[in-house]
Amino acid sequence: LPATPECDDDPAPTEAQTEGPFFTPDAPERVDLRDPGLPGEPLSLAGFVLDRSCQPVAGALLEFWQADAGGAYDNVGFTLRGHQFSDAEGRWRLETVVPGLYPGRTRHIHVRAQPAGGPLLVTQLYFPDEPANGTDGIFDPALLVEWAETPVGEPVRATFDFVLETPG
Ligand code: FE
Repeated sequence: LPATPECDDDPAPTEAQTEGPFFTPDAPERVDLRDPGLPGEPLSLAGFVLDRSCQPVAGALLEFWQADAGGAYDNVGFTLRGHQFSDAEGRWRLETVVPGLYPGRTRHIHVRAQPAGGPLLVTQLYFPDEPANGTDGIFDPALLVEWAETPVGEPVRATFDFVLETPG
């Protein structure tokens, strides 16, 4: 991850998307969603939370939930679910597995993002070069993660910066 975010002078806020039917409240606070023995290709996501002036937003709530490698959500427990807060430099990081496909959708990770005292953004992240990106009716290219250089033997890395509306 670069020391400072790349950011336009007037960045568009991150697009909202439907929450879908599989959100579960009260998921644990954790950066690493990879429970021991969980199958799937390791995936390491990271980025910044920024405001509309490109300034890092510390302490923003980020909550992630996704399908497992087989395309199934855990609707009983908290497998592949968790929340965290951006750090003092506005950074976030997620250790997970590549989400599996399920009927009607391209590959995606669900996100809720909220700065302290600000509005809740519900959205989804997508992956470049996925065949189903072209047929998923809610796919939005503005929500694509960007592949990063990944050392051999380490989890696949990608980045995404959230731009949130902040209070004041
Ligand atoms: Fe989903």
